[in-house]
Amino acid sequence: MTVHSPTSPLIEIKNLCKVYQTPAGDFTAVNGINVEVQRGEFVAIIGKSGSGKSTFINMITGIDHPTSGEIWIDGASIHSFNEGQMAAWRGRNLGIVFQFFQLFPTLTILENIILPMELNKLYSKSERKERAMHLLEKVEMTAQAHKLPSAISGGQQQRVAIARALANDPPLLVADEPTGNLDSKTAEKIFSLFEDLVAAGTTILMVTHDSDLARRVNRTILISDGEVVNEYLVRALSTLTQDQLVEISRTIQPQIFQPNSAIIRQGEKGDKFYILLNGKADVYIHKPGGSEIQVSQLKPGQYFGEMALLGGGVRSATVKASQDGPASVVALDEKAFNSLIDESRSLREELMGLVERRNTYHQLQTLSSLDEHVLSSILKDKEPIVHKEGHEIIKQGDVGDTFYLLLDGQVDVLVKDEQDSEVLVNQISRGSFFGEMALMGNKRRNATVRVSKGHSAKLIELGVGEFDRLEDSSEDFRTHVYGAAGARKRQLENTRGQGIEK
Ligand code: ADP
Ligand code: MG
Repeated sequence: MTVHSPTSPLIEIKNLCKVYQTPAGDFTAVNGINVEVQRGEFVAIIGKSGSGKSTFINMITGIDHPTSGEIWIDGASIHSFNEGQMAAWRGRNLGIVFQFFQLFPTLTILENIILPMELNKLYSKSERKERAMHLLEKVEMTAQAHKLPSAISGGQQQRVAIARALANDPPLLVADEPTGNLDSKTAEKIFSLFEDLVAAGTTILMVTHDSDLARRVNRTILISDGEVVNEYLVRALSTLTQDQLVEISRTIQPQIFQPNSAIIRQGEKGDKFYILLNGKADVYIHKPGGSEIQVSQLKPGQYFGEMALLGGGVRSATVKASQDGPASVVALDEKAFNSLIDESRSLREELMGLVERRNTYHQLQTLSSLDEHVLSSILKDKEPIVHKEGHEIIKQGDVGDTFYLLLDGQVDVLVKDEQDSEVLVNQISRGSFFGEMALMGNKRRNATVRVSKGHSAKLIELGVGEFDRLEDSSEDFRTHVYGAAGARKRQLENTRGQGIEK
């Protein structure tokens, strides 16, 4: 076997085609597939029955021969192998698992596992048995080692078949509907066994009709009529059904944008939703002062332009093809977009959530050029909290260590005067923050904060650690927060006992 650079893809498939000659004429089962699989990936291959999944992977395993195209696995040109070469290569490099387990009925479980080692003259005799027992242990089948396949259940046979596929320690495992013939509980067991293998470094290609399982792997390849549906489209719209994905892939035309050219512009009225299929796209926002800052870079599979459609407004950011190279995007107009979200409640919810998050980022970034990665890692699992008018968020005199970002609404800042009655000293509105003083050494709250009359307040709460991370990530944020805190403190001192005009 050629030793290939470990950084190159494990599998490279170029323009792979399979045409069957049938009495009714030529039938193209696989029509120009281009795919690369990296080492350690767990790839699910999905698609309707008859779409060409088995034909596709049978060419990878060498069970079937391509009509045209190339298959390279770890430097070996599978497409050019004759049967003998293929058998020798496969025996040492590939494990195969089928829907029907195909164990030798006259051999015991243990013998079934030893067989591939014998056939490929791998390991010594005693090692073979030891290895086989070890593999059976891995799939929890040691107790059945001396039984015949007919004496065990389907799920158990499949576990044995997996142990057999692993007999020669192959770096690549290919499975065609390995759980197709099993109940869901047993299927789950097989799947988690695959997850363990991937965690230990095996690359797995698994054909499955089970969309739930497919969602749990690194990567999904959807095949329709012998072709791969753009993977990034599938990723971007992963909440759609396979049929919806196939349907939409037929109706769209990718557009190419040259490096640095704008795809959408802040301030313009937007009527299209975009999915990035190839290349990178940079997102810029104009700060109120006029400067333009890059807030994020989008990768294939990510979308943009959804805010304008859902919010019905103007573009809140500019998105350009990155200077590294052209970007390929698909644009969906309002009608196509609306029918998409009408058809899929989960897509709608996902997009609404995204709009919400991006709105938040946007406001906070405008506030102080926060680093998008730090911000998103902090805000990832945060649900904004909404308080009604009059709700007391902070009480003067309490010990507090929470910092608040005000996403929407308005709050009053009040302090007690000498007569112990409350005086309004400030009002804080959306896009700003409060509670910072307690984080900056002043452990007791020196004012009360309450949701303003006629408003609600939508907040994100940050703990000390999170606040520190934001501080560390952005000079601008630091300057802004400390500057504001200083000003507020002075204002507090000046107006204590006086109040401001309501
Ligand atoms: P899948 O695994 O996605 O269900 P297959 O790869 O088995 O699909 O089949 C793809 C298409 O190719 C089907 O329409 C099938 O009927 C056809 N096909 C598969 N094998 C042959 C063959 N040996 N001769 C002719 N047609 C075939
Ligand atoms: Mg099949």
